[in-house]
Amino acid sequence: MGRTSEDKQDVYHRLSKENGWRAHSAFKLLQLDEEFHLFQGVMRAVDLCAAPGGWTQVLSQKIGGQGSGHVVAVDLQAMAPLPGVVQIQGDITQLSTAKEIVQHFEDCPADLVVCDGAPDVTGLHDVDEYMQSQLLLAALNIATHVLKPGGCFVAKIFRGRDVTLVYSQLRVFFSSVLCAKPRSSRNTSIEAFAVCKGYDPPEGFLPDLSKPLLDHSYDPDFNQLDGPTRVIVPFVTCGVQSAYDSDCGYPQDLEDGSE
Ligand code: SAM
Repeated sequence: MGRTSEDKQDVYHRLSKENGWRAHSAFKLLQLDEEFHLFQGVMRAVDLCAAPGGWTQVLSQKIGGQGSGHVVAVDLQAMAPLPGVVQIQGDITQLSTAKEIVQHFEDCPADLVVCDGAPDVTGLHDVDEYMQSQLLLAALNIATHVLKPGGCFVAKIFRGRDVTLVYSQLRVFFSSVLCAKPRSSRNTSIEAFAVCKGYDPPEGFLPDLSKPLLDHSYDPDFNQLDGPTRVIVPFVTCGVQSAYDSDCGYPQDLEDGSE
């Protein structure tokens, strides 16, 4: 069994090709669902930063395929169509895109909002983390407009220096927040997923699209959270023990590792 970095990248790429997924990230959502039963009772979902559409395919099969299911997928990039999916091409940090998404859920809110958004990585960790958290906060802001009480929000996070601030912000809106690392996500990547269940905004909270969630003039000392303001969330790995490890190399004749 080889262990070159090329091999490490290959296993879920190869499996996604064999299984018809547009992106190997489909396995991340499937493994998150194995652990957290994300799709249970879900009929309406939003997929933010969706292209090329691996997660949307999963959502389309699990929800859209049920006829009355409704999936809205959004990305800067255009995406090939998928059955039962409404697509919006736009920037989730822009008011116009957020408004277009929210319109689809005015009559009937969503059960699930997912966001696998990633900025173009610069290699400057602080900048990348900041850009990533901007995407996450834009996604959270949209979620506060479309999620029904008790709904679920799943978003990619970078486990960087200030991640506790992100957890604290998420805990304001959800009764349960934890950090999950699917086996299909490489250990060498700081990527993980915040799994937030039980949407329960603070009493009196009024969602406001025009109000950015991150105040740019905030005091950097605010990051030094202490006492009750410091939230430490559980860290969970997911994907069954026998699932392929994204950091290992495997022979070419693989079996489906999605189970
Ligand atoms: N979950 C997707 C899948 O399974 O195919 C993969 C998502 S990919 C890792 C990250 C995506 O985030 C890219 O397609 C990129 O265009 C999108 N993205 C980055 N910034 C965005 C923004 N501000 N608004 C919308 N999409 C954005």
